[in-house]
Amino acid sequence: MPLSEFALIERYFRKAGAMRADVQLGVGDDAALLQSPPGAQLVAAMDTLVAGVHFPHGSPPASIGHRVLAVNLSDLAAMGARPAWALLALTLPKIDEHWLEDFTGGFAALARSHDVALVGGDTTSGPLSVTIQIMGHVAKSTALLRSGGRVGDRVFVSGTPGDAAAGLAIEQSKLTASSEAERYLRKRFLYPSPRLALGDCLRGYATACIDVSDGLLGDAGKLAHASGRGVEIVFDDVPVSEELVSAVGERRARELALTGGDDYELCFTVPPSEVERLRHNLPPERWGYCCIGTLREASGTVVTSNGNVIEFSHSGYDHFAS
Ligand code: ADP
Ligand code: MG
Repeated sequence: MPLSEFALIERYFRKAGAMRADVQLGVGDDAALLQSPPGAQLVAAMDTLVAGVHFPHGSPPASIGHRVLAVNLSDLAAMGARPAWALLALTLPKIDEHWLEDFTGGFAALARSHDVALVGGDTTSGPLSVTIQIMGHVAKSTALLRSGGRVGDRVFVSGTPGDAAAGLAIEQSKLTASSEAERYLRKRFLYPSPRLALGDCLRGYATACIDVSDGLLGDAGKLAHASGRGVEIVFDDVPVSEELVSAVGERRARELALTGGDDYELCFTVPPSEVERLRHNLPPERWGYCCIGTLREASGTVVTSNGNVIEFSHSGYDHFAS
């Protein structure tokens, strides 16, 4: 006999995630009662993943549970905020207990590691789609915005973008690599790491910040545009992983790093006068970020190599179309 909706919620959602003292009433009533700390601003974001659009049909359910939370946490990381609570809207074609078990397992592991409580949600029947509303806090007027960048600010990115786009291509059998590289790249797509610790530390250094979800080039451009500026990115300074280079070659790796999606890294700007202090207090080797360019007066995005502008027309293009 299929589980009733009530039993399903009791079994899978009541205890998923962290227990937090600021949750006065969580899953089970008509709504949650939550207590924000005094002096903090509430920060809220929402992202949806639809099967066949944001992840391939048949993706591991643990990955779907992890990713839907990770992409939302990444938005809070980009604001310099600390996460606290999540609401989960789940649309399921059918009740499959193995699927639900794995999905909640993936969700709960990441939620606990970032001290996020699942405080409510909604469960409906229909084509597979998962939405999270994430809420967190930041001290008043300290949030990192896209709009604070100034001319001359250095532009940084965390991690090694491009890996996830290659991982997705491997998932879709459009790309092959050594088994070690495949394992690493698939993991980068299926289990992204939201850069919460970095975002939290960047308050006090960064003038602007955005999370990289739709491709570094486009997202750096969005930051620059929101700041009323343009951006120059130095092609040869874009960081790429060994595994990505081994799979597609160095040039292609950098192109993917600029235009592939699903990275969930942070792109941020720091004034030149603060770069030394940033590097001293947050050593780049330890924190995993590097400088890739500069904000400039002229609007638009340019990519240069040895001082020459190179054309980049294929953002949003399907890199592995067969
Ligand atoms: P209502 O009809 O009042 O909206 P529901 O039956 O939809 O109540 O939900 C009952 C409780 O279970 C609520 O506290 C709701 O937040 C929670 N809930 C429902 N679905 C989920 C889910 N997918 N994840 C977390 N909590 C959920
Ligand atoms: Mg409901």
